[in-house]
Formats: sequence, structure tokens, C-alpha cells
Amino acid sequence: MNLPDLKEDCSRCAALCCLAYPFEPHEDFGLVKARDTPCPNLGPDFRCSIHPDLASKGFGGCIAYSCAGAGQRVTQELFDGETWRDDPDLLHHMTYALRVLRPIHEALLVLQEAATLSLPADLQNHCQELTRALCPEDPSSIWDFEEDSVQDALAAVPDFVETLAPFAQRRR
Ligand code: SF4
Repeated sequence: MNLPDLKEDCSRCAALCCLAYPFEPHEDFGLVKARDTPCPNLGPDFRCSIHPDLASKGFGGCIAYSCAGAGQRVTQELFDGETWRDDPDLLHHMTYALRVLRPIHEALLVLQEAATLSLPADLQNHCQELTRALCPEDPSSIWDFEEDSVQDALAAVPDFVETLAPFAQRRR
């Protein structure tokens, strides 16, 4: 199975999280911005210019956030290392891809955790089936992740997680 890296690696990403999502007034970000708009704290090198001071400046949301590895995968695998600064026409395509891929990577993290539980065989098999469905073979564009087989598996993860409660409690 082609399980991707599920840990973020900002050094291989084009700071997609710093532009893809809107910051709403009620959220833990020190400013309000629209989606697909670069955060004004983002430097030309794709690094956060206030990184050491995120907490004191009210950006706890940035500290808590993780793309679960989706950002570098979009940048390196789906866009061959190109960035929206090299080609501004890529901006919306890259941020769209991040918004599609991030929940898939988060679901894979959940399934990875589920696989560590002592589950009966049918639940183990279901866990593997869902994981496999979320990892399409040789994806070349974000469309491969929008196939029904992937999206149906993604939609099935919450119900699967509910069935795990007794096994998770037993481990405590
Ligand atoms: S404050 Fe820094 S980490 Fe947060 S979105 Fe802006 S540039 Fe990115």
C-alpha cells in the first residue's frame, strides 16, 4: 500500500496552509483574512516571519495546526515542486488540492491509530480497507483523490471510529 508521509514537513511545502484557509474573527488567529490569501506574516522564503512569537501575538491556531503531511505532498508530488510564487496561476489549484487532501491525511492518521488497537478481525479488515481506499495507486492529480472510492471511504471513517470506542476504552 502506498501510505504517504503523514507528518508535516514545512521545508518541502510552499506554505499552503498560510494562504489556503480563511481566518475568522472568532478563531485563534491574530488577524482576519480571506481564504486563498497569503498571510501578511508569510515571508518571501515561505517561512513565518513571526514564528518564535506566534503564541504571544495571538496565533495559537497556527501552533495547533497540522496538515498531516498534505502540504508537502501537494507541493512535491502533485505539482512537482512548483510553487504559487513561481506561477501565480497555480495558487487556487494548489490551495484547492490542500483542502481536498488534508482531511484524507487526517483520516489516515486516525486509521493508523486505530490499527494499534486490539481489534477483532472484521474491524481490522475494515480498517485496512478504508486505509487502502484512501491511498489511490500512483495519484497524478487531485482528481484521483476526488474519486468516489476515496471520498466514500473518507465519509465512512467517522462511523468506523464510533465502533472503536469499546476497544479504545479497554486500552486505557
Ligand atoms: S502567522 Fe505565520 S504560521 Fe500563521 S498563517 Fe501567518 S505566516 Fe503562517
